Amino acid sequence: MSDLEQFRTDTRKWLAANCPPGARGPGQVANGSSKIKIRDPDVTLWLDRMAEKGWTVPTWPREYGGGGLSTAEYVVLLEEMRAIGARPPLVNRGTSMVGPTLLEVGSEDQKKRHLPAIARGEGEWCQGYSEPGAGSDLASLRTSAVLDGDHFVINGQKTWTSDADTSDWMFMLVRSDPDVPKHEGISFLLLTMDQPGISTTPIEMISGGSPFSETFFDNAFADKDDLIGGLNQGWSVGKRLLQHERSGMESLISGSAGTRPVGLVDTARGFLGEVDGRIADDLARDDVLQYEMHMRALQLTQRRSVEESSDGRTPGPATSIFKTVGTDLEKRYAELMTSLRGTQGYGWEGDSFSDEELAATRRFLQSRAASIYSGSNEIQRNIIAKRVLGLPD
Ligand SMILES: Cc1cc2nc3c(=O)[nH]c(=O)nc-3n(C[C@H](O)[C@H](O)[C@H](O)COP(=O)(O)OP(=O)(O)OC[C@H]3O[C@@H](n4cnc5c(N)ncnc54)[C@H](O)[C@@H]3O)c2cc1C
Repeated sequence: MSDLEQFRTDTRKWLAANCPPGARGPGQVANGSSKIKIRDPDVTLWLDRMAEKGWTVPTWPREYGGGGLSTAEYVVLLEEMRAIGARPPLVNRGTSMVGPTLLEVGSEDQKKRHLPAIARGEGEWCQGYSEPGAGSDLASLRTSAVLDGDHFVINGQKTWTSDADTSDWMFMLVRSDPDVPKHEGISFLLLTMDQPGISTTPIEMISGGSPFSETFFDNAFADKDDLIGGLNQGWSVGKRLLQHERSGMESLISGSAGTRPVGLVDTARGFLGEVDGRIADDLARDDVLQYEMHMRALQLTQRRSVEESSDGRTPGPATSIFKTVGTDLEKRYAELMTSLRGTQGYGWEGDSFSDEELAATRRFLQSRAASIYSGSNEIQRNIIAKRVLGLPD
């Protein structure tokens, strides 16, 4: 038996024995926030067991809390998790954004202080990039950071900060030198959210939810030791983090179990009926098939890019392709879920709609944000044109 076959056998056995029933199939996934209650103890048990193995971040080096897996072993782990419907043990901005960035550009001290805690799911992170007046043109940001002894003093405002109210830490871009060209006066800092100088005000979305906030900094502080990549070097660190974010690589592991409560095919069969096991309506069948094929193609392409990389990590500007295609598909999924339900797909309140139908309407509205966050899809197309296709500015 080859080493990889042995790894598969061992992994299958270990998962069968250690993935509790409450961590299989659709359900809650831990995000590490100390402010969010985990409803099912199995979710915590699963997180603890996977963290112990280093499999919350399977390809990270062992010394930073990872599993030290090769790319091939990582793929096997994903396959075996998928086979038993195991949900990911942890999905957050620590494992998918700031962690991979620290691995590449953090100092040894920064890696040792932050990465093992991220791998254990101790704390959720939020992203302090956008400001009023600095969204697509991110480098125009104005929130200031001034070095004062052993810490930076931060003043200003961020906006659209997802999960600011439930996060424990923030990674942020700040203006550390206002007197140089805008890209050259930016620094990248980490700071705790639990301090008197930070306050948040929720912003309500059209879906009725409030997943993000305005975040205000009034003499907030960040440790000097938590300056990542050097003073005024933050633009390249911030851009690299965005590549990790846009890659959607974490969806490879989160796709290991059906995190979507209801599939399109089942919804179509339920509403339109079936003939010989096929969705009865020709047009709907075509739409659903198109979506499923494009989604599968995206997942396979993402997986191939992991397999082709030497260390199972994120590629460069090509991540903008994943972001554009992935979020267009996310929107398409929500549109189809709505249209397949006919008039039942447009319920906002009232007894004539089921809870699932009311939730689907909100998911549809929420899905419109997908092509805006993490840099709008117009901006991604600009990056693809310039950095992937080499077209002139
Ligand atoms: C649900 C959600 C969650 C978010 N979470 C976070 C978060 O956690 N942290 C954070 O920092 N930010 C977050 N954002 C903010 C997000 O990154 C910005 O909304 C995004 O970068 C666009 O910036 P803007 O809203 O200022 O729009 P603008 O930059 O004002 O853009 C307006 C429109 O103009 C287009 N446009 C602008 N410039 C160009 C150009 N050069 N070429 C072509 N078209 C252009 C844009 O595509 C867009 O359609 C979130 C946004 C949403 C919707």
